[in-house]
Amino acid sequence: MRLADRASSLLAPGGPISRAMPGFEPRAAQVQMARAVAETLEQGGTLLMEAPTGCHIAGQQILMSDGTLKRVEDIRAGDLLMGPDSHPRQVLRTVRGHGPLVRIVPRKGEPFIVNIDHILSLVRIYGTRIRRRGGSRVTSTRLKGWIVDVSVREWLTWPQYRKHIHKLFRSSIEFPDRHEPLPLDPYFLGIMLGDGSMIYSATVTTADHEIISACHEAASVIGIGVRVTEKKNNAAVTVHLPRLVGGRRPSPLLRLLKQLGLRGASASTKFVPEAYKTCSRTERAQLLAGLLDTDGGLFGGVFDFISRSPALAQDTAFVARSLGLAAYIRPCQKHNQYGRGGLYYRVSISGDLSVIPCRVERKTAHPRRQIKNVMHTGFSVETAGEGEYFGFALDGDGRYLMGDFTVTHNTGKSLSYLAALGAYLTHRPDAKAVASTATITLQEQLVHKDLVVISEANGVLPVALLKGMGRYLCLLKWRGLSKELSLIPQADLESFGRWVAFTKSGDQNELPFVPSWWGEVAADHGDCLGPACSLQLQCFALRAKEAARRAQLLVTNHHLLLLYRRFAGSSTSPLPNTAPVVIDEAHHLADFATEVYGESCSDFALVALAQRLHGLAPSSKDPLHMQIDAALAVHRGVMNAIRPKGFEPMAIPALDRTLREGYLESLRRLSGDIGRREWDVIRDRSGTSANERAAILIRMLDGYTAAVQSILEPVTGTASWVEPVQQRNVKIVLRNAPIDVGGSLGGLFGEGAAPTILCSATLAAGGSFAHLKAKLGIQKARELILPPAFNYQAQMRYYLPRTPLDPKQREFTDQVASELLGLLRASEGRALVLFTSYEQLRAIAERLRGRLPYTLLVQDQGSTSQLLQRFKEDVHSVLLATARFWEGVDIVGEALSLLVICRLPFDVPTHPLAGARFEAAKARGENPFTTVAVPEAIIRLRQGVGRLIRSTSDRGVVAILDGRVLTKSFGRRFLSSIPAGPYLSSHDEVTAFLRRAAVGTARR
Ligand code: SF4
Repeated sequence: MRLADRASSLLAPGGPISRAMPGFEPRAAQVQMARAVAETLEQGGTLLMEAPTGCHIAGQQILMSDGTLKRVEDIRAGDLLMGPDSHPRQVLRTVRGHGPLVRIVPRKGEPFIVNIDHILSLVRIYGTRIRRRGGSRVTSTRLKGWIVDVSVREWLTWPQYRKHIHKLFRSSIEFPDRHEPLPLDPYFLGIMLGDGSMIYSATVTTADHEIISACHEAASVIGIGVRVTEKKNNAAVTVHLPRLVGGRRPSPLLRLLKQLGLRGASASTKFVPEAYKTCSRTERAQLLAGLLDTDGGLFGGVFDFISRSPALAQDTAFVARSLGLAAYIRPCQKHNQYGRGGLYYRVSISGDLSVIPCRVERKTAHPRRQIKNVMHTGFSVETAGEGEYFGFALDGDGRYLMGDFTVTHNTGKSLSYLAALGAYLTHRPDAKAVASTATITLQEQLVHKDLVVISEANGVLPVALLKGMGRYLCLLKWRGLSKELSLIPQADLESFGRWVAFTKSGDQNELPFVPSWWGEVAADHGDCLGPACSLQLQCFALRAKEAARRAQLLVTNHHLLLLYRRFAGSSTSPLPNTAPVVIDEAHHLADFATEVYGESCSDFALVALAQRLHGLAPSSKDPLHMQIDAALAVHRGVMNAIRPKGFEPMAIPALDRTLREGYLESLRRLSGDIGRREWDVIRDRSGTSANERAAILIRMLDGYTAAVQSILEPVTGTASWVEPVQQRNVKIVLRNAPIDVGGSLGGLFGEGAAPTILCSATLAAGGSFAHLKAKLGIQKARELILPPAFNYQAQMRYYLPRTPLDPKQREFTDQVASELLGLLRASEGRALVLFTSYEQLRAIAERLRGRLPYTLLVQDQGSTSQLLQRFKEDVHSVLLATARFWEGVDIVGEALSLLVICRLPFDVPTHPLAGARFEAAKARGENPFTTVAVPEAIIRLRQGVGRLIRSTSDRGVVAILDGRVLTKSFGRRFLSSIPAGPYLSSHDEVTAFLRRAAVGTARR
């Protein structure tokens, strides 16, 4: 059987992976991916693969681990989502796509829209039916309560009974411990939110003595008095909590309500403050009890709470759901006590209501046995056309909660490539392979979750996880740490010492938190003594490396992968060059390569090293001590000479040759003198000898000298620069990097290289891998790519002025201003105008000010987020901006209907590395304008144009005012690189298109 068939049979429905992971249902895309990886492993070459991951349509609320809600399109890598087990799930990366959508319609609860490949998490409500001997059938409890993750596409093919026994489910939640106490008793706040008035003073009208007592208790805790007045012809009383205390001072209660944002809140604007939505379970239950005791009605096992405030209704449902109760909101008409009617919101809460500690007798529910679990609900699926969807990859089991606490799942591609790798390695017991990722979380997930399944399904696979050396404890450094002289608190040292005594891996991950001084005891390539170390047999880092050498499948990170490839051929390398490599999260590879193939050091590095060197010669009279000080003095002189004046990175200034050579020579001499000195070989109480400490410091010093030399004396093909930084001890960082990263990486992907698979959810740029290939030096590769996310032909138009404007002409700025006045009236504002220089922006802003009936926002009027907020809120406003708005800005909706590019974004290569890349092109005999400037400007133009259409419902016009796109030969390259779309050439056409678009949007 071919490898691709073996890999897909592993993933087949009912196949080995399904058996090892009950509930696993492969999707077509997963099988396709596994086959593509298997074919590359068999045939060799490079595969570039963008794997689709997609979930919800824009606007879907997702519950974050801190209890806040975020719209799915606003979620970013690194965000923490709430998992159904109350533990956070980290977003590893975000993705967006375009494709068939479906509406999930729960029997109880609000419908939601997802893409058809979205994974639903379903709970099985019945066990399995088994046939007894004798033929009778019984239902066992086996599989009851199993959670099944299944794509919507697959669910649609299930038989009816199978659908019937699998339900959507919600989960109650514990939020992380809050350190601040709540300002007001939660039961009392519930009373105030339910039936209290907080507009002027604070009052509660009630007939229930339990409520009156609670008000008295709260008032006494706050330290205020209470006045109770009776109502005429009514059993109720009004409890007055005073506005002033002592006749003059404002009441602390009102201050606390103000602090919570509730002072002055009326029946239609009340809400539950965030701290009370995410407090402890007991406190949330108390809050709900206060609300329901004052304003809830208990009828037939269901609490009804009716509020005029939509926010309070939503928040009440949130609190109830977080406690494991079902809560549904329906709008309703209601007449208040004065006969005035209006729109209200009814929250119906059901489930085991005895968890709500109501104090009013008639509101107290008794424990009841649930026949049907209110947290489970059946559902149906309807088609919802095609559209854009947003999703993310998560760590852990991938399950997370939506805003209504329904549990769902993201999709994962790791099983696909691991299935292919598993099938490949089982038939080649001598072969090895590598899976590399950018983040430690994904590495842990591969080893501790996905590969466990693959091993169970496909036979045991010897796997090792190799982390960067700095993640392991260096025993020699720990023992050599001068604990008496150390500034580390004694308690920290003691608890750390207990961990050292017990740990088997020395892996930083085992620590509950990483101490700030971890660097002092972490293993490091630069100073490790290797075979010369007396502790090498116990060394955690060496043991991990040895395990990696023995493993068949090695999971590691991009840094190590590139490092071992850089120093390929080393006998100690755990990565054979012939091993196939799968590089997940491959969009980070170029950045890692710049780091690995370059050097860096800070101005503080030698100062810190000198402190440790002084430990070898503590006496200030010791010649070695004086030599260290002398070397430090030269170091300070060099650093002062290259320190930039401003805040921008700059090329390392040419140093006086004598100074530079003298500096390097002083470091080499220092290292040599330490090496020549006789050091004591007797180990002290720390278990290390002065000889060993000297050896380790020599290696550190030599490493520093080599790095600083390559920065100060850069070899051809590299660029060196200095970056100012704002840190406590570090003021500048010196760097050196290859000008052409692709050239350094070429061997990884070139002829005869081991099979390499690069995958990511966001690998392609503008629908093409071309830029990635150029950056990484990939000549030839198979490609697997998704269709473009939007229908640009329908959603977007380009506008080019009939008479092309020439930026070289003096009147260009006036012409742009005049064009803008016409265009902005045609679009009724709603425009983002992008400039390439701040001078031009200012000149245009001067010319537009006061001449448009729309708000003019200029970049220097606030931070990016403030400006974007104002721009979105004031729909007809116009925003003038430069560099930072060309990319990463997401404005969905009507507020951005016109995007104006005033000038093509040719960059002046100010960053030393960019400048060096320009010069290198010249030196290759290329025209750097054509080979560097134009491609870079095209990428930036595409990023700028990409600001306009951010969702399937967006419509708009991109106006390019720089006439060079029509008059210059390179202009064609720009126009053919941006998404194709029809052209307009008059302001009237712009108006007509935007009006049609508005009508279309209203209909939708
Ligand atoms: S071998 Fe290297 S990392 Fe390990 S204990 Fe010795 S010096 Fe530290």
